[in-house]
Amino acid sequence: MTVSSHAFDDAFVIPALRQQLDMLGGFEASNDEQNGVYFSAPEIDLSIYDRIVLAFSGGKDSIACLLHLKDLGVDISRIEMWHHDVDGREGSQLMDWTFMADYNRKLADAFGIPLYFSWLQGGLEGEMLKQNDYSQPHKVETPEGLITLERDTSRTKPSTRRRFPQQAASLATRWCSSALKIDVGRRALTNQSRFNNGNTLFITGERREESSGRAKYMQFEPHACDRRGGRLARRVDTWRPVLHWNEERVWDALRRHGVIAPVPYRLSWSRSSCMTCIFNSPRIWATINQYFPERTRMIADYEREFDSTISRNRINVVDLASQAQPMEIDDLEALEQAGRSEYSLPVLLEEGQRWVMPAGAFGKEGCGAV
Ligand code: SF4
Repeated sequence: MTVSSHAFDDAFVIPALRQQLDMLGGFEASNDEQNGVYFSAPEIDLSIYDRIVLAFSGGKDSIACLLHLKDLGVDISRIEMWHHDVDGREGSQLMDWTFMADYNRKLADAFGIPLYFSWLQGGLEGEMLKQNDYSQPHKVETPEGLITLERDTSRTKPSTRRRFPQQAASLATRWCSSALKIDVGRRALTNQSRFNNGNTLFITGERREESSGRAKYMQFEPHACDRRGGRLARRVDTWRPVLHWNEERVWDALRRHGVIAPVPYRLSWSRSSCMTCIFNSPRIWATINQYFPERTRMIADYEREFDSTISRNRINVVDLASQAQPMEIDDLEALEQAGRSEYSLPVLLEEGQRWVMPAGAFGKEGCGAV
């Protein structure tokens, strides 16, 4: 279905959505119905979308989004998965789990869904080392191949980072989320004409339970790249289908669909994001230092070089690690996998295999964006 004018949305699409949500009791006082913004929208009319883009980190919540779409009976051929490589593809291995790209590839294959990678050239490390310079281009995989999106240097000035993103809710301070994920996704949407003259649903897997910031997120709203009323007639809505889910429901979805818990949870992490996330607790740093000491060393070397630490208390990650006991990792298969870039464990349960709740489930150790 192609919608060509704002008027159509106003006359049919939004009222239909409103009626559906009314029936479900999904409205809250903070809804801004006129602008299509809903605090609570656990169910929406998916039939109006030509394609569904699922922002896919490889963590349990993004997997739950995918499984929820399956449970809703969505035609798989309308779905595509997007994964942003935080370390880029130019050789940096500072932040991400080494197997994560390949894990996502194998999972997407298992569900028969196309997966497109995108990244900031040079990854977080390249951006962090920027000194009186411009940010690197974005790289975006598309159905037609890899495209390079250059920076418009006529409208920006060179700048310097030379410090890690800082722990804060603000995306300007915690610049990794915006520079490595949000901006990349936005440019991937605005630089592919296939999204013009059509309706796209952009799905992300945040949950209110994760933080006080996320508790306030809208569940359904026009995406920042939405231009439904403009010349391009590009409608893009954001939907967070698991925003209201608790963790138990997430694990239950993985169990029902036979998706084996991803490796970070098997290693006792409660969340799967960057391995060396700036929000890691001392205990997570202690665990990384115990099992993957080269990763803490690389971070600490940069902290020394920049004379600026990730911790607001000016304690480098090796010293932070020494303040806590590492978690004990019993799952040796997962531990062995964590050291390799090729993902070779099964992603789905095999014949006769029993689903196991991972050690990190329902954990409280800080790791991952808030
Ligand atoms: S997971 Fe942590 S380090 Fe990685 S982009 Fe998000 S906030 Fe930044």
